[in-house]
Amino acid sequence: MTTPLDQWRAQARAAQETDRQVRRLYDVAYRVAAIGRILTNPRATADDIAYVSTRIPRALAAAARLLNRPGLSEHLVTPYARSFLATAERALTAPTTQLLKAANAARAAAAASTNSDDLRYVLLSDIEDRCRYLVEAANSRTGWTRHDHAASYAVLDLATRWGLSVETSIPRQAGDGQPPVPAHIAQEVARRAEIRTRCAAAIRCTRSTCLAYGAVWTQDGTSQGPFLCTGCIPAANAERTARGFAPTLQAVPGGVPADARYSVTLYNGSGPGRRTVTCPTPQEAQFTAETVRPFNNTGYTIQVTTTP
Ligand SMILES: [Zn+2]
Repeated sequence: MTTPLDQWRAQARAAQETDRQVRRLYDVAYRVAAIGRILTNPRATADDIAYVSTRIPRALAAAARLLNRPGLSEHLVTPYARSFLATAERALTAPTTQLLKAANAARAAAAASTNSDDLRYVLLSDIEDRCRYLVEAANSRTGWTRHDHAASYAVLDLATRWGLSVETSIPRQAGDGQPPVPAHIAQEVARRAEIRTRCAAAIRCTRSTCLAYGAVWTQDGTSQGPFLCTGCIPAANAERTARGFAPTLQAVPGGVPADARYSVTLYNGSGPGRRTVTCPTPQEAQFTAETVRPFNNTGYTIQVTTTP
């Protein structure tokens, strides 16, 4: 026989259990909201997107199971949890997430494109930059302008036409032929072609009064010296003497070994930060030095890395 006390205890246990489930639901919703916020970061990588794309559906399924428990759907806190969940679910398919996917696809394709395919490289890098810029704009205080909406549509369209597999509602047009090349891309490609032509003569002399292409590798005693043209070596030694150093710079006998690599260090001329890129040829090294500008005021040095 159940006494009123037994009934009261059973009710208290049920209420306690509901509270516990509500807390779990709220925890799931809170975590899923934090994970969803990764998609607002313009620098989110392909790995970030993959992580979010697995975690959110899993959390949504867990939340759906909890919401089926008795007493949960009508609980006071549940609407808040639901709104967190809905926001995260919407974020998965938001236009900005498409842009992030396109940005990462463009980055991967640019990295895989051969060094000399400037058109493809410039175009893909530009698509990446524009996508990330639009993600940043969408999450800014003011959000997207009408122009940003159109720009996002246009950049996703361009990405699709250039063969990036982007989930988009834009239909591919049949018989497109050569995809369009925006004017600013064509200009940048032409600029790079000019630099490539200059760099055919290889590395630039490091004397600021000279800067001629086709400098030779020097050594200073036994350690690595700067790249200088043959004519600049005596002048550089004279400057060293004037500053009280031994005039020991000379061309490395035999030049740069055929299996050597060129390490280009790009440094920030007005603050901290540096980046190093390794190149297989002196032409590529000089080209990299003149085209990769990670800082507003980028300087560079080129060194030879010989394999022991
Ligand atoms: Zn020189």
